[in-house]
Amino acid sequence: MEDKKYTAYCGLYCKDCIPSNQRLFQLIYELDHLLKELKFKKYAELKSESNLLYKNYPQFEEMLGELGKLECKALCTQGGCKKDCEIRECVEKKKYDGCWECSDYKNCNLLGKLKQFHFIEDNLDLIREYGPEKWTSYRKKHYKWL
Ligand code: SF4
Ligand code: SF4
Repeated sequence: MEDKKYTAYCGLYCKDCIPSNQRLFQLIYELDHLLKELKFKKYAELKSESNLLYKNYPQFEEMLGELGKLECKALCTQGGCKKDCEIRECVEKKKYDGCWECSDYKNCNLLGKLKQFHFIEDNLDLIREYGPEKWTSYRKKHYKWL
């Protein structure tokens, strides 16, 4: 049951995703909060006179804000992850539980982008074989580079 709950429509396992990593977002939030409290921007401005890298501090701050925006506050099947996900829309329209029920998943263009990050086809093969309730112990690495 747990397996199915965390299995996204596209075949990702939500708990493995960076946007679901609660520790990461807690650290981002704490760092952001602390830097603001210390008024680190002013410190960086003065520091940049002796170290040019500190001139990039505004971009770093902006990047930290962007990283924070990655956070997924809900599971895919509860509307989390991308708000206007074409994959979710397609699956719902076809009244499937997920892409593993679709005969087109090996050639689907909508899944194309995910293939840069994940072995999504392998996940879908596993879910098809073992079912969404029992596939997760067979899953391999979530991100291609990890
Ligand atoms: S919202 Fe889309 S990309 Fe994100 S996990 Fe769900 S189906 Fe996959
Ligand atoms: S066409 Fe099939 S594989 Fe592609 S997004 Fe829709 S349901 Fe998933």
